Amino acid sequence: MRRISIFGATGSVGEQTVDLIQRAGGREAFQLVALTGGQNVARLADMARELRPEIAVCADPAGLPALRERLVGTGVAVAAGPEAIAEAADRPADWVMSAIVGAAGLVPGLRALAQGATLALANKESLVTAGPLLMATAARHGARILPVDSEHSAIFQALVGEDITTVERIILTASGGALRDWPMERLAKATVKDALAHPNWAMGQRITIDSASMFNKALEVIETREFFGVLPDQIEVILHPESLIHSMVGYCDGAIMAHLGAPDMRHSIGYALNWPRREALPVARLDFAAIGSLTFRAPDPARYPALGLAREVMARRGLAGAAFNAAKDVALDWFLAGKLGFMAMAEVVAETLSVLDRDFGPENVIMSLADVLAMDQAARLRAAEIAARLGERGQR
Ligand code: NAD
Ligand code: MG
Repeated sequence: MRRISIFGATGSVGEQTVDLIQRAGGREAFQLVALTGGQNVARLADMARELRPEIAVCADPAGLPALRERLVGTGVAVAAGPEAIAEAADRPADWVMSAIVGAAGLVPGLRALAQGATLALANKESLVTAGPLLMATAARHGARILPVDSEHSAIFQALVGEDITTVERIILTASGGALRDWPMERLAKATVKDALAHPNWAMGQRITIDSASMFNKALEVIETREFFGVLPDQIEVILHPESLIHSMVGYCDGAIMAHLGAPDMRHSIGYALNWPRREALPVARLDFAAIGSLTFRAPDPARYPALGLAREVMARRGLAGAAFNAAKDVALDWFLAGKLGFMAMAEVVAETLSVLDRDFGPENVIMSLADVLAMDQAARLRAAEIAARLGERGQR
Protein backbone atom coordinates (compact mmCIF):
# COMPACT_ATOMS: atom_id res chain seq x y z
CA MET A 1 0.00 0.00 0.00
CA ARG A 2 1.18 3.49 -0.80
CA ARG A 3 2.29 5.44 2.27
CA ILE A 4 0.92 8.97 2.30
CA SER A 5 1.30 12.06 4.50
CA ILE A 6 -0.65 15.30 4.28
CA PHE A 7 0.81 18.51 5.70
CA GLY A 8 -1.83 21.22 6.10
CA ALA A 9 -4.59 18.62 5.92
CA THR A 10 -7.21 20.93 7.44
CA GLY A 11 -6.80 23.68 4.85
CA SER A 12 -8.45 24.19 1.49
CA VAL A 13 -5.96 22.08 -0.51
CA GLY A 14 -5.59 19.62 2.38
CA GLU A 15 -9.36 19.01 2.60
CA GLN A 16 -9.57 18.43 -1.14
CA THR A 17 -6.66 15.99 -0.92
CA VAL A 18 -8.45 14.13 1.87
CA ASP A 19 -11.61 14.11 -0.23
CA LEU A 20 -9.80 12.42 -3.13
CA ILE A 21 -8.15 9.92 -0.81
CA GLN A 22 -11.51 9.04 0.74
CA ARG A 23 -13.07 8.58 -2.69
CA ALA A 24 -10.18 6.33 -3.73
CA GLY A 25 -10.83 3.99 -0.78
CA GLY A 26 -9.43 5.85 2.23
CA ARG A 27 -7.52 3.70 4.68
CA GLU A 28 -8.42 0.54 2.76
CA ALA A 29 -6.40 1.87 -0.18
CA PHE A 30 -3.65 3.96 1.43
CA GLN A 31 -1.52 3.71 4.50
CA LEU A 32 -1.65 7.14 6.11
CA VAL A 33 1.55 8.17 7.85
CA ALA A 34 1.11 11.75 9.11
CA LEU A 35 -1.71 14.27 9.07
CA THR A 36 -0.99 17.81 10.25
CA GLY A 37 -3.17 20.82 10.92
CA GLY A 38 -2.93 24.27 12.43
CA GLN A 39 -5.50 25.33 14.99
CA ASN A 40 -8.55 23.38 13.91
CA VAL A 41 -7.93 20.44 16.23
CA ALA A 42 -11.49 19.14 16.01
CA ARG A 43 -11.28 18.74 12.24
CA LEU A 44 -7.81 17.23 12.42
CA ALA A 45 -9.03 14.68 14.95
CA ASP A 46 -12.06 13.78 12.80
CA MET A 47 -9.80 13.19 9.80
CA ALA A 48 -7.43 11.11 11.89
CA ARG A 49 -10.33 8.98 13.17
CA GLU A 50 -11.37 8.29 9.59
CA LEU A 51 -7.96 7.74 8.02
CA ARG A 52 -6.01 6.37 11.01
CA PRO A 53 -2.56 7.83 10.31
CA GLU A 54 0.42 6.81 12.42
CA ILE A 55 0.51 10.34 13.84
CA ALA A 56 -1.60 13.52 13.91
CA VAL A 57 0.23 16.77 14.60
CA CYS A 58 -1.19 20.24 15.25
CA ALA A 59 0.97 23.31 14.77
CA ASP A 60 -0.31 25.00 17.90
CA PRO A 61 0.99 23.36 21.13
CA ALA A 62 -2.09 24.67 22.98
CA GLY A 63 -4.18 22.26 20.93
CA LEU A 64 -2.36 19.13 22.04
CA PRO A 65 -4.51 18.15 25.07
CA ALA A 66 -7.70 18.39 23.00
CA LEU A 67 -6.15 16.45 20.14
CA ARG A 68 -5.00 13.74 22.53
CA GLU A 69 -8.40 13.51 24.16
CA ARG A 70 -10.24 13.24 20.86
CA LEU A 71 -7.96 10.48 19.60
CA VAL A 72 -7.88 8.38 22.76
CA GLY A 73 -8.18 4.66 21.98
CA THR A 74 -7.56 5.07 18.23
CA GLY A 75 -3.88 4.10 18.25
CA VAL A 76 -3.04 7.37 16.48
CA ALA A 77 0.00 9.06 18.07
CA VAL A 78 -0.29 12.82 18.70
CA ALA A 79 2.19 15.67 18.84
CA ALA A 80 2.29 19.45 18.49
CA GLY A 81 4.52 22.31 17.43
CA PRO A 82 6.76 23.11 14.47
CA GLU A 83 9.49 20.63 15.42
CA ALA A 84 6.92 17.83 15.70
CA ILE A 85 5.65 18.73 12.21
CA ALA A 86 9.20 18.57 10.84
CA GLU A 87 9.76 15.21 12.55
CA ALA A 88 6.53 13.89 11.06
CA ALA A 89 8.03 14.70 7.64
CA ASP A 90 11.00 12.41 8.45
CA ARG A 91 8.68 9.42 8.70
CA PRO A 92 9.13 7.32 5.57
CA ALA A 93 6.35 7.95 3.06
CA ASP A 94 5.97 7.44 -0.69
CA TRP A 95 3.89 10.54 -1.36
CA VAL A 96 3.67 13.71 0.72
CA MET A 97 1.25 16.58 0.17
CA SER A 98 2.80 19.94 1.09
CA ALA A 99 -0.26 22.13 1.70
CA ILE A 100 0.73 24.26 4.67
CA VAL A 101 0.33 27.95 3.82
CA GLY A 102 3.36 30.25 3.96
CA ALA A 103 7.02 29.86 4.84
CA ALA A 104 6.11 27.26 7.52
CA GLY A 105 5.79 24.76 4.66
CA LEU A 106 9.47 24.94 3.75
CA VAL A 107 11.07 22.80 6.47
CA PRO A 108 8.62 19.88 6.31
CA GLY A 109 8.92 19.91 2.50
CA LEU A 110 12.72 19.74 2.68
CA ARG A 111 12.59 16.97 5.27
CA ALA A 112 10.15 14.93 3.17
CA LEU A 113 12.44 15.26 0.13
CA ALA A 114 15.44 14.28 2.24
CA GLN A 115 13.81 10.94 3.06
CA GLY A 116 13.15 10.41 -0.65
CA ALA A 117 9.40 10.98 -0.74
CA THR A 118 7.61 12.31 -3.81
CA LEU A 119 6.53 15.79 -2.78
CA ALA A 120 3.21 17.05 -4.15
CA LEU A 121 3.89 20.76 -3.80
CA ALA A 122 1.01 23.14 -3.23
CA ASN A 123 3.15 25.30 -0.94
CA LYS A 124 4.53 27.65 -3.61
CA GLU A 125 6.19 29.72 -0.89
CA SER A 126 8.88 27.06 -0.50
CA LEU A 127 9.98 27.46 -4.13
CA VAL A 128 9.83 31.25 -3.86
CA THR A 129 11.85 31.45 -0.64
CA ALA A 130 14.32 28.65 -1.33
CA GLY A 131 13.88 27.30 -4.87
CA PRO A 132 17.55 26.34 -5.43
CA LEU A 133 17.71 24.64 -2.02
CA LEU A 134 14.50 22.68 -2.61
CA MET A 135 15.52 21.53 -6.10
CA ALA A 136 19.03 20.58 -4.92
CA THR A 137 17.62 18.60 -1.99
CA ALA A 138 15.30 16.70 -4.32
CA ALA A 139 18.17 15.96 -6.73
CA ARG A 140 20.52 14.86 -3.97
CA HIS A 141 18.03 12.35 -2.58
CA GLY A 142 16.55 11.20 -5.87
CA ALA A 143 13.19 12.57 -4.78
CA ARG A 144 10.58 13.98 -7.12
CA ILE A 145 8.56 17.17 -6.82
CA LEU A 146 5.16 17.23 -8.51
CA PRO A 147 3.52 20.65 -8.84
CA VAL A 148 0.02 21.09 -7.40
CA ASP A 149 -0.55 24.77 -8.06
CA SER A 150 -3.05 24.63 -10.95
CA GLU A 151 -0.89 26.71 -13.31
CA HIS A 152 2.20 24.62 -12.68
CA SER A 153 0.31 21.37 -12.94
CA ALA A 154 -1.00 22.65 -16.28
CA ILE A 155 2.52 23.52 -17.47
CA PHE A 156 3.84 20.18 -16.22
CA GLN A 157 1.14 18.38 -18.17
CA ALA A 158 1.76 20.49 -21.30
CA LEU A 159 5.43 19.45 -21.11
CA VAL A 160 4.83 15.70 -21.06
CA GLY A 161 6.84 14.07 -23.85
CA GLU A 162 8.43 17.38 -24.86
CA ASP A 163 11.99 18.63 -24.68
CA ILE A 164 12.28 21.62 -22.29
CA THR A 165 14.96 23.17 -24.53
CA THR A 166 12.32 23.61 -27.27
CA VAL A 167 10.16 25.75 -24.99
CA GLU A 168 10.03 29.37 -26.11
CA ARG A 169 7.69 30.76 -23.48
CA ILE A 170 5.40 29.88 -20.64
CA ILE A 171 2.15 31.78 -20.34
CA LEU A 172 0.59 31.87 -16.89
CA THR A 173 -3.09 32.72 -16.83
CA ALA A 174 -4.54 34.86 -14.07
CA SER A 175 -8.17 35.45 -13.17
CA GLY A 176 -7.34 38.96 -11.95
CA GLY A 177 -9.05 38.25 -8.62
CA ALA A 178 -11.98 39.88 -6.91
CA LEU A 179 -11.16 43.52 -7.77
CA ARG A 180 -10.15 43.15 -11.40
CA ASP A 181 -13.02 45.31 -12.70
CA TRP A 182 -12.83 47.98 -10.01
CA PRO A 183 -11.79 51.48 -11.11
CA MET A 184 -8.15 52.11 -10.17
CA GLU A 185 -8.94 55.00 -7.82
CA ARG A 186 -11.15 52.80 -5.63
CA LEU A 187 -8.54 50.08 -5.12
CA ALA A 188 -6.71 51.86 -2.30
CA LYS A 189 -9.93 51.68 -0.26
CA ALA A 190 -10.70 48.01 -0.90
CA THR A 191 -11.50 46.06 2.27
CA VAL A 192 -10.72 42.47 3.24
CA LYS A 193 -14.31 41.50 2.43
CA ASP A 194 -14.03 43.04 -1.05
CA ALA A 195 -10.76 41.24 -1.77
CA LEU A 196 -12.16 37.89 -0.59
CA ALA A 197 -14.93 37.74 -3.19
CA HIS A 198 -12.99 35.63 -5.72
CA PRO A 199 -14.89 35.16 -8.98
CA ASN A 200 -13.78 31.60 -9.85
CA TRP A 201 -11.81 29.71 -7.23
CA ALA A 202 -12.72 28.79 -3.63
CA MET A 203 -9.40 28.89 -1.74
CA GLY A 204 -7.87 29.72 1.63
CA GLN A 205 -8.15 33.33 2.85
CA ARG A 206 -4.54 34.37 2.28
CA ILE A 207 -4.23 33.11 -1.30
CA THR A 208 -7.61 34.64 -2.18
CA ILE A 209 -6.42 38.11 -1.17
CA ASP A 210 -3.10 37.45 -2.89
CA SER A 211 -5.13 36.73 -6.03
CA ALA A 212 -6.83 40.13 -5.87
CA SER A 213 -3.45 41.91 -5.51
CA MET A 214 -1.80 39.44 -7.92
CA PHE A 215 0.85 38.75 -5.32
CA ASN A 216 -0.25 35.18 -5.88
CA LYS A 217 0.62 35.45 -9.59
CA ALA A 218 3.91 37.12 -8.67
CA LEU A 219 4.74 34.13 -6.45
CA GLU A 220 3.73 31.82 -9.29
CA VAL A 221 5.98 33.56 -11.81
CA ILE A 222 8.94 32.99 -9.47
CA GLU A 223 7.72 29.44 -8.81
CA THR A 224 7.75 28.82 -12.59
CA ARG A 225 11.28 30.14 -12.92
CA GLU A 226 12.54 28.00 -10.05
CA PHE A 227 10.70 24.78 -10.84
CA PHE A 228 11.00 24.62 -14.63
CA GLY A 229 14.35 26.42 -14.85
CA VAL A 230 13.25 28.77 -17.64
CA LEU A 231 14.51 32.34 -17.89
CA PRO A 232 12.44 35.22 -16.49
CA ASP A 233 11.95 36.67 -19.99
CA GLN A 234 10.31 33.44 -21.07
CA ILE A 235 7.51 33.82 -18.52
CA GLU A 236 4.42 35.86 -19.40
CA VAL A 237 1.23 36.60 -17.50
CA ILE A 238 -2.11 37.06 -19.22
CA LEU A 239 -5.44 37.95 -17.64
CA HIS A 240 -8.01 35.31 -18.45
CA PRO A 241 -11.17 36.03 -16.45
CA GLU A 242 -12.86 32.66 -17.11
CA SER A 243 -10.00 30.66 -15.48
CA LEU A 244 -10.60 27.75 -17.85
CA ILE A 245 -7.15 27.73 -19.44
CA HIS A 246 -4.91 26.98 -16.48
CA SER A 247 -1.69 27.92 -18.29
CA MET A 248 0.09 27.39 -21.62
CA VAL A 249 3.45 26.37 -22.99
CA GLY A 250 4.68 27.88 -26.27
CA TYR A 251 7.25 25.93 -28.31
CA CYS A 252 9.92 27.00 -30.80
CA ASP A 253 7.73 26.01 -33.75
CA GLY A 254 4.98 28.39 -32.66
CA ALA A 255 2.75 25.64 -31.24
CA ILE A 256 0.99 26.37 -27.95
CA MET A 257 -0.11 23.62 -25.61
CA ALA A 258 -2.89 24.85 -23.34
CA HIS A 259 -4.34 22.99 -20.38
CA LEU A 260 -8.06 23.48 -19.88
CA GLY A 261 -10.48 22.28 -17.26
CA ALA A 262 -12.97 23.36 -14.64
CA PRO A 263 -11.48 25.61 -11.94
CA ASP A 264 -11.31 22.82 -9.37
CA MET A 265 -8.11 22.11 -7.44
CA ARG A 266 -8.99 18.43 -7.25
CA HIS A 267 -7.79 18.18 -10.83
CA SER A 268 -4.20 19.17 -10.11
CA ILE A 269 -4.19 17.45 -6.70
CA GLY A 270 -5.54 14.29 -8.33
CA TYR A 271 -3.06 14.48 -11.20
CA ALA A 272 -0.21 14.58 -8.67
CA LEU A 273 -1.78 11.79 -6.61
CA ASN A 274 -2.19 9.46 -9.58
CA TRP A 275 0.89 10.50 -11.57
CA PRO A 276 2.13 9.14 -13.93
CA ARG A 277 -1.28 7.62 -14.63
CA ARG A 278 -4.52 9.46 -15.17
CA GLU A 279 -7.50 8.27 -13.16
CA ALA A 280 -11.12 9.44 -13.26
CA LEU A 281 -11.63 12.54 -11.09
CA PRO A 282 -14.82 14.08 -9.73
CA VAL A 283 -14.42 17.41 -11.52
CA ALA A 284 -16.99 19.08 -13.79
CA ARG A 285 -16.54 18.55 -17.53
CA LEU A 286 -16.36 21.60 -19.80
CA ASP A 287 -19.22 22.30 -22.19
CA PHE A 288 -17.69 24.54 -24.86
CA ALA A 289 -20.96 25.41 -26.53
CA ALA A 290 -22.23 26.70 -23.17
CA ILE A 291 -18.96 28.56 -22.50
CA GLY A 292 -19.11 30.30 -25.87
CA SER A 293 -15.91 32.33 -25.65
CA LEU A 294 -12.66 32.67 -23.78
CA THR A 295 -11.27 36.16 -23.24
CA PHE A 296 -7.83 37.59 -22.52
CA ARG A 297 -6.29 40.93 -21.69
CA ALA A 298 -2.91 42.26 -20.67
CA PRO A 299 -2.51 42.90 -16.93
CA ASP A 300 -2.07 46.60 -16.14
CA PRO A 301 1.29 47.04 -14.32
CA ALA A 302 -0.03 50.01 -12.32
CA ARG A 303 -2.95 47.98 -11.01
CA TYR A 304 -0.76 44.98 -10.23
CA PRO A 305 2.62 46.28 -8.99
CA ALA A 306 3.34 42.81 -7.52
CA LEU A 307 4.11 41.53 -11.02
CA GLY A 308 6.91 44.06 -11.47
CA LEU A 309 8.29 43.16 -8.04
CA ALA A 310 8.46 39.50 -9.10
CA ARG A 311 10.70 40.57 -12.01
CA GLU A 312 13.02 42.33 -9.55
CA VAL A 313 13.18 39.23 -7.39
CA MET A 314 14.01 37.02 -10.36
CA ALA A 315 16.76 39.41 -11.45
CA ARG A 316 18.32 39.28 -7.96
CA ARG A 317 17.61 35.65 -7.02
CA GLY A 318 19.66 34.57 -4.01
CA LEU A 319 17.74 35.46 -0.89
CA ALA A 320 15.48 38.02 -2.59
CA GLY A 321 12.67 35.46 -2.83
CA ALA A 322 12.74 34.86 0.93
CA ALA A 323 12.55 38.61 1.56
CA PHE A 324 9.75 39.03 -0.96
CA ASN A 325 7.62 36.27 0.51
CA ALA A 326 8.15 37.39 4.11
CA ALA A 327 7.43 41.06 3.35
CA LYS A 328 4.30 40.07 1.44
CA ASP A 329 3.18 37.96 4.40
CA VAL A 330 3.60 40.84 6.82
CA ALA A 331 1.87 43.32 4.50
CA LEU A 332 -1.01 40.87 4.16
CA ASP A 333 -1.28 40.52 7.96
CA TRP A 334 -1.49 44.29 8.25
CA PHE A 335 -4.12 44.48 5.53
CA LEU A 336 -6.13 41.70 7.19
CA ALA A 337 -5.97 43.63 10.46
CA GLY A 338 -7.37 46.74 8.74
CA LYS A 339 -4.17 48.68 9.42
CA LEU A 340 -2.83 48.97 5.87
CA GLY A 341 -4.46 49.82 2.56
CA PHE A 342 -4.81 47.32 -0.27
CA MET A 343 -2.39 49.10 -2.62
CA ALA A 344 0.04 49.87 0.22
CA MET A 345 0.86 46.16 0.49
CA ALA A 346 3.01 46.42 -2.65
CA GLU A 347 4.72 49.53 -1.28
CA VAL A 348 5.72 47.65 1.86
CA VAL A 349 7.19 44.83 -0.21
CA ALA A 350 9.00 47.17 -2.63
CA GLU A 351 10.58 49.15 0.18
CA THR A 352 11.59 46.02 2.10
CA LEU A 353 13.31 44.65 -1.02
CA SER A 354 15.22 47.86 -1.61
CA VAL A 355 16.32 48.17 2.04
CA LEU A 356 17.61 44.59 2.12
CA ASP A 357 18.97 44.51 -1.44
CA ARG A 358 22.67 44.33 -0.58
CA ASP A 359 22.08 41.31 1.68
CA PHE A 360 20.67 39.07 -1.05
CA GLY A 361 24.08 37.77 -2.15
CA PRO A 362 25.30 36.95 -5.65
CA GLU A 363 22.85 35.48 -8.12
CA ASN A 364 24.17 31.95 -7.98
CA VAL A 365 24.40 31.79 -4.22
CA ILE A 366 24.22 28.30 -2.79
CA MET A 367 21.72 28.93 -0.07
CA SER A 368 21.57 27.20 3.27
CA LEU A 369 18.36 26.78 5.19
CA ALA A 370 19.81 28.94 7.97
CA ASP A 371 20.42 31.82 5.50
CA VAL A 372 16.88 31.55 4.19
CA LEU A 373 15.34 31.55 7.67
CA ALA A 374 17.53 34.48 8.74
CA MET A 375 16.44 36.49 5.70
CA ASP A 376 12.82 35.58 6.38
CA GLN A 377 13.14 36.98 9.92
CA ALA A 378 15.04 40.11 8.84
CA ALA A 379 12.47 40.88 6.16
CA ARG A 380 9.58 40.41 8.58
CA LEU A 381 11.09 42.95 10.99
CA ARG A 382 11.78 45.48 8.23
CA ALA A 383 8.38 45.02 6.62
CA ALA A 384 6.61 45.52 9.94
CA GLU A 385 8.45 48.83 10.50
CA ILE A 386 7.58 49.98 7.00
CA ALA A 387 3.96 48.87 7.32
CA ALA A 388 3.65 50.73 10.61
CA ARG A 389 4.94 53.92 9.00
CA LEU A 390 2.77 53.65 5.88
CA GLY A 391 -0.25 52.64 7.94
CA GLU A 392 0.14 55.70 10.16
CA ARG A 393 0.50 57.95 7.15
CA GLY A 394 -3.05 56.88 6.41
CA GLN A 395 -2.33 54.64 3.48
CA ARG A 396 -5.10 52.34 4.34
P1 NAD B 1 -5.40 27.27 4.02
O1 NAD B 1 -5.18 28.49 4.80
O2 NAD B 1 -6.79 26.88 3.65
O3 NAD B 1 -4.75 26.00 4.78
C1 NAD B 1 -3.44 26.04 5.25
C2 NAD B 1 -3.13 24.81 6.09
O4 NAD B 1 -1.86 25.03 6.73
C3 NAD B 1 -4.10 24.52 7.21
O5 NAD B 1 -4.14 23.13 7.48
C4 NAD B 1 -3.48 25.25 8.40
O6 NAD B 1 -3.90 24.75 9.63
C5 NAD B 1 -2.02 24.98 8.16
N1 NAD B 1 -1.13 25.96 8.74
C6 NAD B 1 -1.26 27.31 8.71
N2 NAD B 1 -0.21 27.90 9.33
C7 NAD B 1 0.60 26.90 9.75
C8 NAD B 1 1.85 26.86 10.44
N3 NAD B 1 2.46 27.97 10.84
N4 NAD B 1 2.39 25.65 10.70
C9 NAD B 1 1.78 24.51 10.31
N5 NAD B 1 0.60 24.48 9.65
C10 NAD B 1 0.01 25.66 9.38
O7 NAD B 1 -4.46 27.39 2.72
P2 NAD B 1 -4.70 26.77 1.28
O8 NAD B 1 -5.50 27.71 0.47
O9 NAD B 1 -5.09 25.35 1.37
O10 NAD B 1 -3.22 26.88 0.68
C11 NAD B 1 -2.20 25.98 1.07
C12 NAD B 1 -1.02 26.15 0.13
O11 NAD B 1 -1.43 25.77 -1.18
C13 NAD B 1 -0.54 27.60 0.02
O12 NAD B 1 0.83 27.60 -0.18
C14 NAD B 1 -1.24 28.10 -1.23
O13 NAD B 1 -0.53 29.13 -1.87
C15 NAD B 1 -1.25 26.85 -2.08
N6 NAD B 1 -2.32 26.80 -3.08
C16 NAD B 1 -3.63 26.79 -2.68
C17 NAD B 1 -4.64 26.74 -3.64
C18 NAD B 1 -6.08 26.67 -3.23
O14 NAD B 1 -6.93 26.46 -4.07
N7 NAD B 1 -6.43 26.84 -1.97
C19 NAD B 1 -4.32 26.70 -4.99
C20 NAD B 1 -2.97 26.71 -5.36
C21 NAD B 1 -1.98 26.74 -4.39
MG1 MG C 1 -2.28 28.95 -8.80
